[in-house]
Amino acid sequence: MSFINILGHDFQKEFLLKSIEKGRVANSYLFYGQEGIGKRLIALEFAKLLNCKRKNDRLEETPGGVCECSSCLKIDSSNHPDVTLVKCEDSSEIKVKQIREQIEDLIYLKPYEGKYKVSIVNDAEAMNTNAQNAFLKTLEEPPGEAVIILISSKPQQLLKTIISRCQRLEFFRLSDQVIEDCIKQKGELSQDRYAIAVKLSQGSLAKAILLDEELISERKRIIEKISELKKDSAVELLEFVDSIASQKSSKEHDHLKIFFEILFMWLKDILYLKSNISDENLVHKDFYEISKKLSERWSAEHILELRSFLEEAWVSLFHRNVNKQYVLENLIIKFAQA
Ligand SMILES: [Zn+2]
Repeated sequence: MSFINILGHDFQKEFLLKSIEKGRVANSYLFYGQEGIGKRLIALEFAKLLNCKRKNDRLEETPGGVCECSSCLKIDSSNHPDVTLVKCEDSSEIKVKQIREQIEDLIYLKPYEGKYKVSIVNDAEAMNTNAQNAFLKTLEEPPGEAVIILISSKPQQLLKTIISRCQRLEFFRLSDQVIEDCIKQKGELSQDRYAIAVKLSQGSLAKAILLDEELISERKRIIEKISELKKDSAVELLEFVDSIASQKSSKEHDHLKIFFEILFMWLKDILYLKSNISDENLVHKDFYEISKKLSERWSAEHILELRSFLEEAWVSLFHRNVNKQYVLENLIIKFAQA
Protein backbone atom coordinates (compact mmCIF):
# COMPACT_ATOMS: atom_id res chain seq x y z
CA MET A 1 0.00 0.00 0.00
CA SER A 2 1.08 3.58 -0.44
CA PHE A 3 -0.41 7.03 -0.30
CA ILE A 4 -1.23 7.15 -3.99
CA ASN A 5 -2.69 3.64 -3.94
CA ILE A 6 -5.32 4.62 -1.38
CA LEU A 7 -8.51 5.39 -3.25
CA GLY A 8 -10.13 8.82 -2.94
CA HIS A 9 -9.40 11.52 -0.32
CA ASP A 10 -7.24 13.53 -2.73
CA PHE A 11 -7.55 16.78 -0.81
CA GLN A 12 -6.61 15.17 2.52
CA LYS A 13 -3.60 13.36 1.03
CA GLU A 14 -2.40 16.54 -0.67
CA PHE A 15 -2.81 18.49 2.57
CA LEU A 16 -0.68 16.01 4.52
CA LEU A 17 2.00 15.79 1.83
CA LYS A 18 2.25 19.58 1.70
CA SER A 19 2.56 19.80 5.49
CA ILE A 20 5.66 17.58 5.29
CA GLU A 21 7.11 19.45 2.31
CA LYS A 22 6.70 22.79 4.03
CA GLY A 23 7.88 21.56 7.42
CA ARG A 24 4.51 22.35 8.97
CA VAL A 25 3.64 19.03 10.53
CA ALA A 26 1.24 19.49 13.46
CA ASN A 27 1.73 17.81 16.83
CA SER A 28 -1.76 16.41 16.90
CA TYR A 29 -4.37 15.58 14.31
CA LEU A 30 -7.96 14.43 14.41
CA PHE A 31 -8.99 12.42 11.35
CA TYR A 32 -12.76 12.12 11.45
CA GLY A 33 -15.56 10.91 9.21
CA GLN A 34 -17.68 7.80 8.71
CA GLU A 35 -16.31 4.34 9.47
CA GLY A 36 -14.56 2.21 6.88
CA ILE A 37 -13.43 4.86 4.41
CA GLY A 38 -9.65 4.67 4.91
CA LYS A 39 -8.72 7.06 7.75
CA ARG A 40 -6.49 4.52 9.50
CA LEU A 41 -4.74 3.56 6.27
CA ILE A 42 -3.97 7.20 5.56
CA ALA A 43 -2.68 7.72 9.11
CA LEU A 44 -0.29 4.77 8.68
CA GLU A 45 0.89 6.00 5.29
CA PHE A 46 1.44 9.45 6.80
CA ALA A 47 3.50 7.85 9.59
CA LYS A 48 5.57 6.11 6.89
CA LEU A 49 6.22 9.33 5.02
CA LEU A 50 7.18 11.15 8.22
CA ASN A 51 9.82 8.57 9.06
CA CYS A 52 10.81 7.38 5.58
CA LYS A 53 14.55 7.05 5.02
CA ARG A 54 14.14 8.12 1.40
CA LYS A 55 11.74 10.93 2.17
CA ASN A 56 13.45 13.70 0.20
CA ASP A 57 13.86 11.57 -2.92
CA ARG A 58 10.29 10.40 -2.66
CA LEU A 59 8.78 13.84 -2.32
CA GLU A 60 10.52 14.77 -5.59
CA GLU A 61 9.89 11.52 -7.50
CA THR A 62 6.38 10.23 -6.89
CA PRO A 63 5.01 11.83 -3.75
CA GLY A 64 3.42 9.09 -1.71
CA GLY A 65 4.55 6.24 -3.97
CA VAL A 66 5.51 2.78 -2.72
CA CYS A 67 8.74 2.62 -0.69
CA GLU A 68 10.67 -0.34 0.62
CA CYS A 69 13.15 1.38 2.91
CA SER A 70 13.69 -0.34 6.27
CA SER A 71 11.51 2.20 8.07
CA CYS A 72 8.50 1.86 5.74
CA LEU A 73 8.77 -1.93 5.83
CA LYS A 74 8.81 -1.93 9.63
CA ILE A 75 5.69 0.21 9.78
CA ASP A 76 4.01 -2.12 7.29
CA SER A 77 4.70 -5.05 9.62
CA SER A 78 3.75 -3.11 12.81
CA ASN A 79 7.35 -3.37 13.96
CA HIS A 80 8.60 0.20 14.05
CA PRO A 81 9.81 1.31 17.50
CA ASP A 82 8.62 4.89 16.95
CA VAL A 83 5.15 4.20 15.60
CA THR A 84 2.38 2.99 17.91
CA LEU A 85 -1.19 2.06 17.07
CA VAL A 86 -3.52 2.19 20.07
CA LYS A 87 -6.85 0.39 19.74
CA CYS A 88 -9.51 -1.39 21.79
CA GLU A 89 -8.19 -4.61 23.33
CA ASP A 90 -10.61 -7.30 24.57
CA SER A 91 -13.29 -4.74 25.33
CA SER A 92 -15.13 -1.90 23.71
CA GLU A 93 -13.10 0.69 25.64
CA ILE A 94 -9.62 2.17 25.46
CA LYS A 95 -8.51 2.33 29.08
CA VAL A 96 -6.28 4.81 30.86
CA LYS A 97 -3.64 2.09 31.35
CA GLN A 98 -3.25 1.81 27.58
CA ILE A 99 -2.86 5.57 27.19
CA ARG A 100 -0.17 5.57 29.90
CA GLU A 101 1.75 2.56 28.60
CA GLN A 102 1.35 3.03 24.87
CA ILE A 103 1.53 6.82 24.63
CA GLU A 104 2.69 8.70 27.73
CA ASP A 105 5.56 6.36 28.59
CA LEU A 106 6.88 6.39 25.03
CA ILE A 107 6.21 9.79 23.59
CA TYR A 108 8.64 11.74 25.77
CA LEU A 109 11.54 9.51 24.75
CA LYS A 110 13.65 10.60 21.77
CA PRO A 111 12.70 8.83 18.54
CA TYR A 112 14.64 5.59 18.45
CA GLU A 113 15.35 5.42 14.74
CA GLY A 114 12.89 7.67 12.94
CA LYS A 115 12.45 11.41 12.91
CA TYR A 116 9.07 11.43 14.66
CA LYS A 117 7.33 9.52 17.42
CA VAL A 118 3.95 8.75 15.89
CA SER A 119 1.01 7.60 18.02
CA ILE A 120 -2.18 6.66 16.24
CA VAL A 121 -5.32 6.15 18.32
CA ASN A 122 -7.91 4.18 16.37
CA ASP A 123 -11.58 4.66 17.36
CA ALA A 124 -10.45 7.46 19.66
CA GLU A 125 -14.01 7.94 20.95
CA ALA A 126 -13.63 4.55 22.65
CA MET A 127 -11.28 6.15 25.21
CA ASN A 128 -13.22 6.18 28.48
CA THR A 129 -13.39 9.38 30.53
CA ASN A 130 -10.24 8.63 32.53
CA ALA A 131 -8.35 7.78 29.38
CA GLN A 132 -9.49 10.99 27.68
CA ASN A 133 -8.42 13.06 30.66
CA ALA A 134 -5.03 11.39 30.80
CA PHE A 135 -4.67 11.91 27.10
CA LEU A 136 -5.51 15.59 27.37
CA LYS A 137 -2.41 16.13 29.52
CA THR A 138 -0.20 14.68 26.79
CA LEU A 139 -1.90 16.85 24.19
CA GLU A 140 -1.29 19.98 26.23
CA GLU A 141 2.48 19.64 26.12
CA PRO A 142 3.53 17.31 23.36
CA PRO A 143 7.27 17.04 22.72
CA GLY A 144 8.50 18.51 19.43
CA GLU A 145 9.04 15.19 17.66
CA ALA A 146 5.62 13.83 18.57
CA VAL A 147 2.82 13.39 16.07
CA ILE A 148 -0.44 12.15 17.55
CA ILE A 149 -3.24 11.11 15.21
CA LEU A 150 -6.70 10.50 16.61
CA ILE A 151 -9.06 8.59 14.35
CA SER A 152 -12.76 8.79 14.99
CA SER A 153 -16.11 8.21 13.35
CA LYS A 154 -17.85 9.75 16.39
CA PRO A 155 -15.82 12.85 17.30
CA GLN A 156 -18.79 14.25 19.25
CA GLN A 157 -17.91 11.69 21.95
CA LEU A 158 -14.49 13.26 22.48
CA LEU A 159 -13.85 16.01 25.04
CA LYS A 160 -14.14 19.42 23.39
CA THR A 161 -10.77 20.31 24.88
CA ILE A 162 -9.21 17.37 23.03
CA ILE A 163 -10.79 18.35 19.72
CA SER A 164 -9.73 21.97 20.02
CA ARG A 165 -6.07 20.99 20.44
CA CYS A 166 -5.97 18.95 17.24
CA GLN A 167 -5.51 19.91 13.62
CA ARG A 168 -8.83 18.60 12.31
CA LEU A 169 -9.13 16.86 8.99
CA GLU A 170 -12.52 15.61 7.85
CA PHE A 171 -12.83 12.57 5.58
CA PHE A 172 -15.89 12.07 3.43
CA ARG A 173 -17.63 8.98 2.12
CA LEU A 174 -16.14 7.76 -1.11
CA SER A 175 -17.95 8.46 -4.36
CA ASP A 176 -20.03 5.70 -5.96
CA GLN A 177 -17.57 5.66 -8.85
CA VAL A 178 -14.58 4.96 -6.58
CA ILE A 179 -16.52 2.18 -4.83
CA GLU A 180 -17.61 0.66 -8.13
CA ASP A 181 -14.02 0.69 -9.44
CA CYS A 182 -12.90 -1.11 -6.30
CA ILE A 183 -15.64 -3.74 -6.63
CA LYS A 184 -14.72 -4.31 -10.28
CA GLN A 185 -11.04 -4.57 -9.41
CA LYS A 186 -11.80 -7.22 -6.81
CA GLY A 187 -13.66 -9.13 -9.51
CA GLU A 188 -15.72 -11.30 -7.15
CA LEU A 189 -19.15 -10.10 -8.18
CA SER A 190 -21.04 -10.58 -11.39
CA GLN A 191 -21.81 -7.40 -13.30
CA ASP A 192 -25.50 -7.30 -12.43
CA ARG A 193 -24.53 -7.04 -8.73
CA TYR A 194 -22.40 -3.88 -9.07
CA ALA A 195 -25.19 -1.37 -8.63
CA ILE A 196 -26.63 -3.01 -5.52
CA ALA A 197 -23.17 -3.52 -4.00
CA VAL A 198 -22.37 0.17 -4.49
CA LYS A 199 -25.62 1.13 -2.74
CA LEU A 200 -25.00 -1.30 0.12
CA SER A 201 -21.46 -0.01 0.66
CA GLN A 202 -22.75 3.49 1.49
CA GLY A 203 -19.45 5.08 0.54
CA SER A 204 -17.37 2.70 2.65
CA LEU A 205 -14.55 0.81 1.00
CA ALA A 206 -14.30 -1.54 3.98
CA LYS A 207 -17.88 -2.65 3.35
CA ALA A 208 -17.38 -2.86 -0.41
CA ILE A 209 -14.49 -5.27 0.21
CA LEU A 210 -16.64 -7.45 2.49
CA LEU A 211 -19.50 -7.75 0.03
CA ASP A 212 -19.38 -11.02 -1.84
CA GLU A 213 -21.94 -13.11 -3.72
CA GLU A 214 -22.81 -14.88 -0.48
CA LEU A 215 -23.73 -11.70 1.34
CA ILE A 216 -25.69 -10.33 -1.56
CA SER A 217 -27.73 -13.54 -1.75
CA GLU A 218 -28.07 -13.42 2.02
CA ARG A 219 -29.72 -10.03 1.63
CA LYS A 220 -32.38 -11.59 -0.58
CA ARG A 221 -33.02 -14.31 1.96
CA ILE A 222 -33.23 -11.84 4.86
CA ILE A 223 -35.67 -9.52 3.13
CA GLU A 224 -37.90 -12.26 1.77
CA LYS A 225 -37.97 -14.10 5.07
CA ILE A 226 -38.67 -11.04 7.18
CA SER A 227 -41.37 -9.74 4.87
CA GLU A 228 -43.36 -12.91 5.39
CA LEU A 229 -42.44 -13.61 9.00
CA LYS A 230 -46.02 -13.29 10.08
CA LYS A 231 -46.98 -16.51 8.36
CA ASP A 232 -44.24 -18.50 10.02
CA SER A 233 -44.63 -20.76 12.98
CA ALA A 234 -42.55 -20.03 16.07
CA VAL A 235 -40.28 -22.96 15.24
CA GLU A 236 -39.47 -21.71 11.75
CA LEU A 237 -38.79 -18.28 13.17
CA LEU A 238 -36.26 -19.57 15.63
CA GLU A 239 -34.59 -21.68 12.95
CA PHE A 240 -34.16 -18.53 10.96
CA VAL A 241 -32.60 -16.73 13.92
CA ASP A 242 -30.24 -19.68 14.42
CA SER A 243 -29.08 -19.47 10.84
CA ILE A 244 -28.06 -15.84 11.31
CA ALA A 245 -26.51 -16.25 14.74
CA SER A 246 -24.50 -19.36 14.02
CA GLN A 247 -22.46 -18.39 10.97
CA LYS A 248 -19.10 -19.59 12.13
CA SER A 249 -16.88 -17.84 9.62
CA SER A 250 -14.11 -15.49 10.72
CA LYS A 251 -16.14 -12.69 9.20
CA GLU A 252 -19.12 -13.57 11.40
CA HIS A 253 -19.04 -10.35 13.38
CA ASP A 254 -18.90 -8.20 10.25
CA HIS A 255 -21.59 -10.26 8.57
CA LEU A 256 -23.87 -9.68 11.53
CA LYS A 257 -23.23 -5.95 11.23
CA ILE A 258 -24.11 -6.08 7.57
CA PHE A 259 -27.30 -8.00 8.42
CA PHE A 260 -28.28 -5.04 10.60
CA GLU A 261 -27.32 -2.50 7.99
CA ILE A 262 -29.40 -4.31 5.39
CA LEU A 263 -32.39 -4.03 7.72
CA PHE A 264 -31.70 -0.36 8.52
CA MET A 265 -31.52 0.53 4.85
CA TRP A 266 -34.55 -1.55 4.04
CA LEU A 267 -36.69 0.18 6.68
CA LYS A 268 -35.51 3.47 5.21
CA ASP A 269 -36.65 2.28 1.76
CA ILE A 270 -40.08 1.43 3.16
CA LEU A 271 -40.28 4.84 4.78
CA TYR A 272 -39.29 6.50 1.48
CA LEU A 273 -42.06 4.61 -0.30
CA LYS A 274 -44.51 5.59 2.39
CA SER A 275 -43.57 9.26 1.89
CA ASN A 276 -43.68 8.94 -1.92
CA ILE A 277 -40.08 10.10 -2.27
CA SER A 278 -38.52 9.25 -5.65
CA ASP A 279 -37.66 5.57 -6.15
CA GLU A 280 -34.16 6.70 -7.16
CA ASN A 281 -33.23 6.81 -3.47
CA LEU A 282 -34.08 3.17 -2.79
CA VAL A 283 -31.17 0.94 -1.83
CA HIS A 284 -32.93 -2.37 -2.38
CA LYS A 285 -34.53 -1.40 -5.69
CA ASP A 286 -34.95 -5.01 -6.69
CA PHE A 287 -37.34 -5.52 -3.76
CA TYR A 288 -39.64 -2.73 -4.80
CA GLU A 289 -42.82 -4.87 -4.76
CA ILE A 290 -42.24 -6.33 -1.29
CA SER A 291 -41.25 -2.96 0.18
CA LYS A 292 -44.20 -1.19 -1.44
CA LYS A 293 -46.64 -3.70 0.05
CA LEU A 294 -45.17 -3.27 3.52
CA SER A 295 -45.21 0.51 3.19
CA GLU A 296 -48.96 0.23 2.67
CA ARG A 297 -49.43 -2.16 5.57
CA TRP A 298 -47.24 -0.40 8.17
CA SER A 299 -47.81 3.07 9.60
CA ALA A 300 -44.90 5.52 9.67
CA GLU A 301 -44.89 5.33 13.49
CA HIS A 302 -44.61 1.60 13.29
CA ILE A 303 -41.67 1.73 10.87
CA LEU A 304 -39.89 4.18 13.15
CA GLU A 305 -40.61 1.91 16.11
CA LEU A 306 -39.02 -1.04 14.31
CA ARG A 307 -36.07 1.18 13.58
CA SER A 308 -35.59 1.96 17.25
CA PHE A 309 -35.82 -1.78 18.10
CA LEU A 310 -33.04 -2.31 15.58
CA GLU A 311 -30.95 0.46 17.13
CA GLU A 312 -31.40 -1.02 20.62
CA ALA A 313 -30.41 -4.46 19.38
CA TRP A 314 -27.33 -2.97 17.68
CA VAL A 315 -26.20 -1.31 20.90
CA SER A 316 -26.81 -4.51 22.93
CA LEU A 317 -24.81 -6.63 20.50
CA PHE A 318 -21.92 -4.43 19.54
CA HIS A 319 -21.47 -2.21 22.58
CA ARG A 320 -22.74 -4.22 25.53
CA ASN A 321 -21.95 -7.80 24.53
CA VAL A 322 -25.43 -9.05 25.42
CA ASN A 323 -26.06 -12.68 24.39
CA LYS A 324 -26.44 -12.77 20.63
CA GLN A 325 -29.13 -15.44 20.48
CA TYR A 326 -31.27 -13.56 22.98
CA VAL A 327 -30.99 -10.21 21.19
CA LEU A 328 -31.74 -11.66 17.75
CA GLU A 329 -34.72 -13.69 18.98
CA ASN A 330 -36.25 -10.60 20.53
CA LEU A 331 -35.65 -8.59 17.41
CA ILE A 332 -37.16 -11.15 15.06
CA ILE A 333 -40.22 -11.44 17.30
CA LYS A 334 -40.74 -7.67 17.00
CA PHE A 335 -40.67 -7.96 13.23
CA ALA A 336 -42.98 -10.97 13.31
CA GLN A 337 -45.52 -9.01 15.32
CA ALA A 338 -45.37 -6.11 12.89
ZN1 LIG B 1 10.48 4.64 3.00
